[in-house]
Amino acid sequence: MGINIAIDGPAGAGKSTIAKLVAKEKGYIYVDTGAMYRGLAIHFIDQGIRPEDTDGIIEACRSAQVTIQYEDGNQQVYLNGKNITARLRDEEVGNMASKSSPIPQVRKKLLELQQGLAREQDVIMDGRDIGTCVLPNADVKVYLTASVETRAKRRFDELTQKGIACDFEEIAKDIAERDERDMTRETAPLKQAEDAVLIDSSHMTIDEVVAAIAALCQ
Ligand code: C5P
Repeated sequence: MGINIAIDGPAGAGKSTIAKLVAKEKGYIYVDTGAMYRGLAIHFIDQGIRPEDTDGIIEACRSAQVTIQYEDGNQQVYLNGKNITARLRDEEVGNMASKSSPIPQVRKKLLELQQGLAREQDVIMDGRDIGTCVLPNADVKVYLTASVETRAKRRFDELTQKGIACDFEEIAKDIAERDERDMTRETAPLKQAEDAVLIDSSHMTIDEVVAAIAALCQ
């Protein structure tokens, strides 16, 4: 069993940016579980299934195989043998992932893959239910959050820098809706594990958050 670090928190809290940097500093493998939900979401979209069609999603789970490989230390997601990493960040994919992730069959499909990766190597894994469900015995658990306004501002700046036109209010509304779905679902809702350290990054720099988490991993 390797060292297991669990990082949970709401969308846009900076989990992946921070986890990647901690992984580099500590020599851990970074496992992005959101990318796995996004990988399955691509399967549902490509099958022409609507996010509201729960039965269709459950049925389509049977024909989806999500696997992970690492190239130059970067996680690559394969869906039925095809590398679909380039599509993971599409808006439509994020929306489908958020709406399909509450379905227990979808979660079950990915649980074994996540636990298997953590069994074999030292990992820092981020998601919504890592400390509470996927790795309940993790060596270190962090709940990383920030205010909706801070998270919306970060997303707005990121899109604007890429030259993508966007509306701040729309982004903030979308983030609040995703929080609501993640926190109120019946299966594996987003919540701080009892033994997790709370870090609110609203007024912290990336370096400060990385240092705080790295210090917990001594
Ligand atoms: O973190 P990311 O935005 O890439 O995750 C995509 C979606 O997958 C989220 O909206 C969330 O609903 C879901 N998810 C989850 N459990 C995880 C990771 C992600 O339910 N461990």
